[in-house]
Amino acid sequence: MLVNSGQIIEAIKSHDIWELGPLFPAVAKRRFKGKGKSIYAPCAFHLHPDVKPSFSWHLSKNFCQCYGCGMGGDLIGFYSAMTGKDFIPSVIALARFFHIKLQFGNRLEKEGEEEWQ
Ligand SMILES: [Zn+2]
Repeated sequence: MLVNSGQIIEAIKSHDIWELGPLFPAVAKRRFKGKGKSIYAPCAFHLHPDVKPSFSWHLSKNFCQCYGCGMGGDLIGFYSAMTGKDFIPSVIALARFFHIKLQFGNRLEKEGEEEWQ
Protein backbone atom coordinates (compact mmCIF):
# COMPACT_ATOMS: atom_id res chain seq x y z
CA MET A 1 0.00 0.00 0.00
CA LEU A 2 1.41 3.32 -1.11
CA VAL A 3 1.29 5.99 1.59
CA ASN A 4 0.76 9.67 0.77
CA SER A 5 0.00 8.95 -2.86
CA GLY A 6 -1.71 12.36 -3.20
CA GLN A 7 1.46 14.20 -2.22
CA ILE A 8 3.56 11.98 -4.44
CA ILE A 9 1.28 12.64 -7.42
CA GLU A 10 1.48 16.39 -6.78
CA ALA A 11 5.26 16.18 -6.57
CA ILE A 12 5.39 14.31 -9.89
CA LYS A 13 3.08 16.81 -11.57
CA SER A 14 5.24 19.71 -10.40
CA HIS A 15 7.82 18.54 -12.92
CA ASP A 16 7.76 19.62 -16.54
CA ILE A 17 6.32 16.94 -18.82
CA TRP A 18 9.28 17.38 -21.12
CA GLU A 19 11.58 16.09 -18.34
CA LEU A 20 10.31 12.63 -19.31
CA GLY A 21 12.28 12.93 -22.55
CA PRO A 22 15.24 10.80 -21.34
CA LEU A 23 12.86 7.92 -20.61
CA PHE A 24 11.65 7.94 -24.20
CA PRO A 25 14.62 8.99 -26.31
CA ALA A 26 12.96 7.93 -29.55
CA VAL A 27 10.08 10.30 -28.85
CA ALA A 28 12.34 13.09 -27.63
CA LYS A 29 14.30 12.87 -30.86
CA ARG A 30 11.20 13.27 -32.98
CA ARG A 31 10.78 16.91 -32.54
CA PHE A 32 9.77 19.71 -33.23
CA LYS A 33 7.94 22.42 -34.88
CA GLY A 34 6.77 25.46 -33.06
CA LYS A 35 8.15 27.40 -30.20
CA GLY A 36 7.01 28.73 -26.88
CA LYS A 37 4.01 27.23 -25.19
CA SER A 38 3.29 24.41 -27.62
CA ILE A 39 5.61 22.11 -29.51
CA TYR A 40 4.39 19.96 -32.36
CA ALA A 41 5.83 16.58 -33.26
CA PRO A 42 4.85 13.32 -34.96
CA CYS A 43 2.61 11.17 -32.80
CA ALA A 44 4.49 9.68 -29.86
CA PHE A 45 2.38 6.55 -29.92
CA HIS A 46 3.08 5.46 -33.49
CA LEU A 47 -0.51 4.39 -33.92
CA HIS A 48 -1.13 6.08 -37.23
CA PRO A 49 0.86 7.57 -40.07
CA ASP A 50 1.72 11.13 -39.27
CA VAL A 51 2.92 13.16 -42.21
CA LYS A 52 2.03 16.43 -40.56
CA PRO A 53 2.85 16.73 -36.86
CA SER A 54 -0.38 16.18 -34.98
CA PHE A 55 1.12 15.53 -31.57
CA SER A 56 1.23 18.58 -29.37
CA TRP A 57 3.20 19.17 -26.18
CA HIS A 58 1.35 21.88 -24.29
CA LEU A 59 4.20 23.04 -22.13
CA SER A 60 2.28 25.79 -20.32
CA LYS A 61 -0.49 23.37 -19.32
CA ASN A 62 1.93 20.47 -18.78
CA PHE A 63 0.20 17.87 -20.87
CA CYS A 64 0.45 16.40 -24.33
CA GLN A 65 -2.14 15.26 -26.80
CA CYS A 66 -2.35 13.79 -30.27
CA TYR A 67 -5.08 15.29 -32.41
CA GLY A 68 -4.91 12.28 -34.70
CA CYS A 69 -5.53 9.37 -32.32
CA GLY A 70 -6.57 11.30 -29.19
CA MET A 71 -3.94 9.74 -26.94
CA GLY A 72 -1.99 11.78 -24.45
CA GLY A 73 -2.29 13.11 -20.94
CA ASP A 74 -0.35 14.69 -18.13
CA LEU A 75 3.00 13.28 -16.96
CA ILE A 76 1.43 10.22 -15.39
CA GLY A 77 -1.08 9.64 -18.18
CA PHE A 78 1.58 9.97 -20.84
CA TYR A 79 3.97 7.63 -19.01
CA SER A 80 1.16 5.12 -18.45
CA ALA A 81 0.14 5.19 -22.12
CA MET A 82 3.72 4.85 -23.32
CA THR A 83 4.63 1.97 -21.03
CA GLY A 84 1.27 0.18 -20.70
CA LYS A 85 1.55 0.31 -16.92
CA ASP A 86 -1.46 0.94 -14.70
CA PHE A 87 -1.82 4.19 -12.77
CA ILE A 88 -0.21 3.27 -9.44
CA PRO A 89 2.77 1.40 -10.95
CA SER A 90 3.27 4.46 -13.17
CA VAL A 91 3.22 6.76 -10.14
CA ILE A 92 5.80 4.56 -8.41
CA ALA A 93 8.06 4.43 -11.46
CA LEU A 94 7.89 8.21 -11.95
CA ALA A 95 8.47 8.89 -8.26
CA ARG A 96 11.66 6.83 -8.54
CA PHE A 97 12.65 8.66 -11.73
CA PHE A 98 12.23 12.05 -10.01
CA HIS A 99 13.81 10.82 -6.74
CA ILE A 100 10.62 11.34 -4.74
CA LYS A 101 10.58 9.33 -1.54
CA LEU A 102 8.04 6.51 -1.46
CA GLN A 103 6.57 4.88 1.59
CA PHE A 104 4.71 1.59 1.53
CA GLY A 105 2.50 1.07 4.57
CA ASN A 106 4.55 0.01 7.57
CA ARG A 107 7.10 -1.78 5.49
CA LEU A 108 10.31 -0.50 4.02
CA GLU A 109 10.24 0.48 0.37
CA LYS A 110 12.33 -2.51 -0.69
CA GLU A 111 9.82 -4.92 0.74
CA GLY A 112 6.97 -3.23 -1.09
CA GLU A 113 8.83 -3.19 -4.36
CA GLU A 114 8.12 -6.77 -5.42
CA GLU A 115 4.41 -6.29 -5.34
CA TRP A 116 4.59 -3.81 -8.25
CA GLN A 117 6.94 -5.62 -10.57
ZN1 LIG B 1 -1.55 9.84 -32.47
